[in-house]
Amino acid sequence: MVATSELKFCQEAMRRLMLQRAVWEGVLLEGAPLLKGSVVQQYKQCGKKNCSCAAGAHRHGPFTYLSFSDQGRTRMRFVREAQRGRVVFLAENYRLFRHARAQVVKLNREIMDLTNRIERLRTVDSAEAFS
Ligand SMILES: [Zn+2]
Repeated sequence: MVATSELKFCQEAMRRLMLQRAVWEGVLLEGAPLLKGSVVQQYKQCGKKNCSCAAGAHRHGPFTYLSFSDQGRTRMRFVREAQRGRVVFLAENYRLFRHARAQVVKLNREIMDLTNRIERLRTVDSAEAFS
């Protein structure tokens, strides 16, 4: 026989997870372009031997870079000031997309666990079915 309160609890939890998943799926369905990587700021030594930065007194910058992985290696690409706004926007789209993707994966796992619980709770044995 079905354990009613546990089943209701599982169904409510499932409903909540499905609503959360729908929100993240909405992010995945947006059409904005994505740029793989994250925008970082770095200070640099210029490489001139007679510059005071060579002695570690100061560094130049900050300079903006796009940090991304390429075949397992972290790469940095310099971002010109004029490109900065667009690169930040595209990289933020990518970050949000990847976050939404991870949320959907996590929620799917939780929904499957609940699906298994609900199946166990709702399944009657054949003796009961044929009585
Ligand atoms: Zn320098």
